[in-house]
Amino acid sequence: MHRLINSVGDLTFLRDREGLEITLASVLYELLGAGRLVLWRVAANPQGLRLRQRAALEGSNRVALSETHTPTHELPLLDSVAHLKACFDAKVPTRLDRNASGRHVHVFPIASDREVIGLLEVEHVEGLREDHERLVTGMLRVYRNHLSVLDYSEHDELTGLLNRKTFEGYFNRMVAIDPVAPVSVTGFDWRGSRRSPNSDQHPWIAVIDIDFFKRINDRFGHLYGDEVLLLMARLMRANFRESDRLFRFGGEEFVVLLGHTERENAGKVMERFRKVVEAYRFPQLEGVTISIGFTCARGISGSTAFERADEALYIAKKSGRNQVRCFETLIEEGVLKHKVAAESEVELF
Ligand code: GH3
Ligand code: MG
Ligand code: MG
Repeated sequence: MHRLINSVGDLTFLRDREGLEITLASVLYELLGAGRLVLWRVAANPQGLRLRQRAALEGSNRVALSETHTPTHELPLLDSVAHLKACFDAKVPTRLDRNASGRHVHVFPIASDREVIGLLEVEHVEGLREDHERLVTGMLRVYRNHLSVLDYSEHDELTGLLNRKTFEGYFNRMVAIDPVAPVSVTGFDWRGSRRSPNSDQHPWIAVIDIDFFKRINDRFGHLYGDEVLLLMARLMRANFRESDRLFRFGGEEFVVLLGHTERENAGKVMERFRKVVEAYRFPQLEGVTISIGFTCARGISGSTAFERADEALYIAKKSGRNQVRCFETLIEEGVLKHKVAAESEVELF
């Protein structure tokens, strides 16, 4: 009982999701005396749902994988792993007789309010007792409830995008070439990003601002303005990748952290989104457009990166709106100048 209460304490103490998932896996592994335990996350991809392994424990082997370890399209398809797919579809715990290693296999769904977001696979020599099965479902409920509290505090209420407060944390993790394990993850073989540190690919940050948004509010009212913000967030979700991070910074200003890519491609992605918005028919409205400023996020702090993207956005606004501007290109063209203070900035903020 003591151990169980301590475990719940450990779990609900954590605020970072990676640490939370990995702690959940190791707490259950110990409590159940499992032969093997794997925590899977279900990731969406245009070709279908995929399985992202987050933690795997077997004997003294404890592996934790960062979210950026494997690109989504390289992950195995959920459909190709029959016993995991069966549990995902049934949305209830499932149990299989002995597998090749002579253990019984239990799979538990990890569900949010709306959908199954992950699966917990437990192998056990004798098979789990009923009270142990109840223990797992109880712990998964604690985990889920804790996640929804975290979600609530990290997301913008109107659009559901990440809020400004979470920006620094996501920025630092995306910018690190090989993200280090969260401090809460100890005793695991941590596998971060597989990206080569020498490539031409960098992370990018873009600031997106709706053009003449005040006019929309003035003409149709604030509530209608809110509807436009909601639709804008939906367009963003549909057009950026799962690995990109989308924020609402406040008002009609949005920020995108774009995963590692070349400058040319970052520009193309932003230009494509600008066109998507230009072509989208908002109810009762003609010609809603956005302006975008973007910059390379490597080697600088989150606040400097944001400032640079915002400077590029200012030029886009000044030059007529409904356009995309890149900070580095504006520097090369002599339109903008590097600020000495920003360049020599210590990475603290
Ligand atoms: P620009 O093209 O230069 O960006 O012009 P703009 O009118 O979009 O820019 P400005 O920053 O002057 O106006 C932003 C407006 O956004 C003003 C404010 O009333 C409105 N706003 C801020 N937050 C919210 C919100 O949560 N909901 C709604 N409906 N409007 C908001
Ligand atoms: Mg605006
Ligand atoms: Mg604005």
